[in-house]
Amino acid sequence: MSKKEIRWSRRNFLKTTGAVGLASIIGPMASLAHASDKMSKVPTRPFGKTGANVSILSLGGMFNIASNQLLMKQAVNWGVTYWDTADCYQSGSEKGIGKFFSRQPDTRKKIFLVNKSDARDPKGMTRRLDRSLDRMKTDYIDLYFVHGIYSIDELDSRTKAWAEKTKAAGKIRFFGFSTHSNMEECLLEAAKLGWIDGIMMTYNYRLMHSDNMRRAVDACVKAGIGLTAMKTQGGGQIRTDSQTELELAGRFLEKGFTDAQAKLKAVWQNPQIASICSQMPNMTILMANVAAALDKTQLSARDTSLLQRYAAETRSAYCTGCTAICESCVEREAPIGDVMRYLMYCNSYDDYALASEGFKKIPQKIRRDIARLDYSMAERKCPQGLPIAKLMQEAKKKLET
Ligand code: SF4
Repeated sequence: MSKKEIRWSRRNFLKTTGAVGLASIIGPMASLAHASDKMSKVPTRPFGKTGANVSILSLGGMFNIASNQLLMKQAVNWGVTYWDTADCYQSGSEKGIGKFFSRQPDTRKKIFLVNKSDARDPKGMTRRLDRSLDRMKTDYIDLYFVHGIYSIDELDSRTKAWAEKTKAAGKIRFFGFSTHSNMEECLLEAAKLGWIDGIMMTYNYRLMHSDNMRRAVDACVKAGIGLTAMKTQGGGQIRTDSQTELELAGRFLEKGFTDAQAKLKAVWQNPQIASICSQMPNMTILMANVAAALDKTQLSARDTSLLQRYAAETRSAYCTGCTAICESCVEREAPIGDVMRYLMYCNSYDDYALASEGFKKIPQKIRRDIARLDYSMAERKCPQGLPIAKLMQEAKKKLET
């Protein structure tokens, strides 16, 4: 399509969305008018074989919860009762939850509370768990994750013993891990272990249709592992730079939802996924996501295939986290997958603070040379065709200050 044609189509798109857009976006939100009714709570799904039912929308807690107490109250009212945080989240996420539970002690039993720890050794895990319990003013966590594993080898018999002992002590009910890297391998291996209750992994309209991901999800479901999807926006808002993007965005608006809501729906359409963890730092996003969860409109086969076409056309702008492929191709240590994720927070989610905070956690001696390494072999092997060297330079320039 020529630039002229794209410009023409964009005018048409704006005309169309101008006519139907605002009402359409607000359309699903109108169902929130009924959300205070007992019948209008976000639906729930069983979480693996744990026996727990969780809301299909989970409140991701990587934001200043302490100043957002009203938002949490509203989340409970709308049935968003699966809450997620981590001991490493800044801005007092755990303390904010603790403040909420202190003020509303009856709420604790309604919440399926998830926390995660960066520790791997049993002593460190106990120390961090106890600190989290203290900060969150609760004596148990429903699901406790080892945070952000790259390989199942990060869990061993000591981890299993710790999980069993901690469950027996009543401090956690269920145990598992989260992963942004090599998700498919981590899931497949976890399904063989027999002692993992739940997993939270990067999963979205870009990744969910690959054979590897389907196999991994099937194996976990068969093993009774509850699955939570994260990073479901798959790299940020759909732009309108190409014909597919125009078609996609316009199509969803005409149906009455935004592309962000459509991406949530794409994931919910797989009943194997129990919940979607979403950062909802303000009432507008919470409302939009709750509206999407309450709305009964299904994506059509045509919508799904358009999303897939869009994913294929923009693949070189999205890192799929397969770090086992690229990181071993670089002579020195370079956390390529992590850096790509931080860059996504900055470029696609407009969250510079989060991106920069993550980037600065990379040890200084690794960061120092990160933009100078030879990534040519990694680029040749990258299945997404990412210009890794250029992106690493961009990350260093943007995120180190
Ligand atoms: S840069 Fe490429 S190879 Fe490396 S994790 Fe991302 S998509 Fe996979």
